[in-house]
Amino acid sequence: MTLAPAVRPLLICATEVVHAERLSPSFVRVHLAAPELADLGVGPRSFDQRVKLVFPDHVDGPLPVVPDGEDWYAAWLALPQPERGHMRTYTVRDVVGSGADTRLVVDLVVHGVEGPAGGGHGEAGPGSRWAAAARPGSRVVLVGPRRGMPYGGIEFDPPAGAELLLAGDETAVPAVLATLAQLEPTARGAAFLEVPLAGDVPSAVHPEGVRVTWLPREGAAHGAPLHAAVLEHLGAGSAPVVPDVPEGEVDPELWETPTHSSSGEELEPVVHTVGDDLADVYAWIAGESRLVTGLRRALVRDLGLDRRRVAFMGYWREGRPMGA
Ligand SMILES: Cc1cc2nc3c(=O)[nH]c(=O)nc-3n(C[C@H](O)[C@H](O)[C@H](O)COP(=O)(O)OP(=O)(O)OC[C@H]3O[C@@H](n4cnc5c(N)ncnc54)[C@H](O)[C@@H]3O)c2cc1C
Repeated sequence: MTLAPAVRPLLICATEVVHAERLSPSFVRVHLAAPELADLGVGPRSFDQRVKLVFPDHVDGPLPVVPDGEDWYAAWLALPQPERGHMRTYTVRDVVGSGADTRLVVDLVVHGVEGPAGGGHGEAGPGSRWAAAARPGSRVVLVGPRRGMPYGGIEFDPPAGAELLLAGDETAVPAVLATLAQLEPTARGAAFLEVPLAGDVPSAVHPEGVRVTWLPREGAAHGAPLHAAVLEHLGAGSAPVVPDVPEGEVDPELWETPTHSSSGEELEPVVHTVGDDLADVYAWIAGESRLVTGLRRALVRDLGLDRRRVAFMGYWREGRPMGA
């Protein structure tokens, strides 16, 4: 008797850039191709589906090694840095084509474009460097969902009929744009997106009932325009110009969703303090961890938004490389 080869739970494969485009000063779009993408398990409603990209040290450097199998992550971590490269998290912006011609579309932020005076955050990391130099033929390793296998990685999960509040900085733009384009036409609510520069504002496909507001930072403190706009939207009066969150209180790995709390907080409902206006709100907020911590405080602690109707996710932390 011959045994069928075991189906791997994840899709781990080398991909090649077949199209690279500088969408704006701060965003690069790449279309990634590989025959293995025929088995990519991303549904038509991918919302904020996340994947991992493993970058070489330099865009033309040797492709990182990522072992496959059950203990792939531990095995990958055990490799010397030059061999394993750098793993970072990105969002599925789109999937185009089919079968072996499937292309995964990812929008990557090139950071540091604003410069030190405009809120740049130090040296660009390997993801940003790779994005800035990517061209057809550049390669990167994908760790993503395989069709028919459990993977998770989607946090956007509003209750039916919710009043949506989507908010984020530039790193959340791909997730919010993908989500907006996939909502039911009857969806209602608002989206607020802070981007580095006015030239970074893209066009967005969204239901008529969801208002989309772009907030180019143009040198303002990171998160200040978004914080103020979200609080004003919720009728919370005048907001502080910069979220007042002391360094020690910023959780760099902040991840608070209806089913997971990075701080171990109980998922008890809280009593609304600002009337029933917020009872229908479902908030999805992602971006720099201090910014998200500040909004979480304002929404959950001060305004009393139900903890079970929010997803707050730190996508990156100023001054700290993310991932391994
Ligand atoms: C679920 C999830 C989905 C994400 N989706 C996307 C996506 O679709 N597109 C995308 O571009 N990012 C996305 N991110 C954020 C991305 O993973 C981080 O920005 C990551 O740090 C980028 O890696 P890097 O190698 O460029 O920088 P790192 O090596 O991680 O960091 C190096 C330095 O750059 C700073 N830095 C990191 N990111 C930024 C930034 N955006 N702006 C300014 N300074 C920064 C760090 O603070 C550090 O000082 C996502 C993150 C998560 C958790």
